[in-house]
Amino acid sequence: MMPLLNVERLSKSFGTHQVLKSIDLTVSAGDVTCIVGPSGSGKSTLLRCLNYLEVPTSGAIYLEGEPVGVRWRGNKLFRMSFNELSVQRQKMGMVFQGFHLFPHKTALENIIEAPVIVKGKTRQQATEEARRLLDKVGLSDRADYYPRQLSGGQQQRVAIARALAMQPTLMLFDEPTSALDPELVGEVLAVMRQLAEEGMTMVVVTHEMSFARDVADHLVFMDGGVIVEAGNPRDVLSNPQHSRTRSFLARVL
Ligand code: ADP
Ligand code: MG
Repeated sequence: MMPLLNVERLSKSFGTHQVLKSIDLTVSAGDVTCIVGPSGSGKSTLLRCLNYLEVPTSGAIYLEGEPVGVRWRGNKLFRMSFNELSVQRQKMGMVFQGFHLFPHKTALENIIEAPVIVKGKTRQQATEEARRLLDKVGLSDRADYYPRQLSGGQQQRVAIARALAMQPTLMLFDEPTSALDPELVGEVLAVMRQLAEEGMTMVVVTHEMSFARDVADHLVFMDGGVIVEAGNPRDVLSNPQHSRTRSFLARVL
């Protein structure tokens, strides 16, 4: 079966600094892949390359078999137009460490914004769907609250609902709980766990090792812009093969 996401020899440099060094990664539909690794190892850059928020220096990304960000014309590759790229980006919902909600819009308005503006849904359709999503993330009673009236955990759950409103085929999470007070982490992880159980394909950069152990199908350890080790999370966590993985795990577990 064709993988949902396929990353081949992806490299990214900023000036002379090579941040990603020939990354290969395959994600099957319905899989949860957790990416762990020390700060500065290139995890965020990898996620941002997947949806072309960063343009890779070399290598290729395929989503459902289609090259991301580029397309063939004859036997030559060309960068996509902004409109073509925007259609592909809609398939990849992204949730960041900081929640990036529109501060002057309510939770409901945040969620319906893109479906109405980008997808051309009617306000009524989008609102019905948003209410369903708010219910899903446990916030049906917070539809009319502004971000500043919500806790960090609630804001992040709105951000997840907002990403889901675009009906993505793939969800990308970049340390979604790192900015939260410890007591709020669990409610966000619970929503992510539920999404995983419903079969959403997810790539999650996280420091939450117990989430990775329990929920991930695949654990990837990155260091210095390379994938040092990858595999079944229980195997990698209990029996790491590389000294770099062992020393990282010794610090975080
Ligand atoms: P991680 O998410 O694993 O902490 P990042 O992907 O954020 O790592 O960063 C990897 C490296 O790339 C770091 O050394 C960082 O300083 C560098 N980097 C990230 N984004 C940029 C940028 N826009 N310009 C220059 N350097 C960058
Ligand atoms: Mg990061």
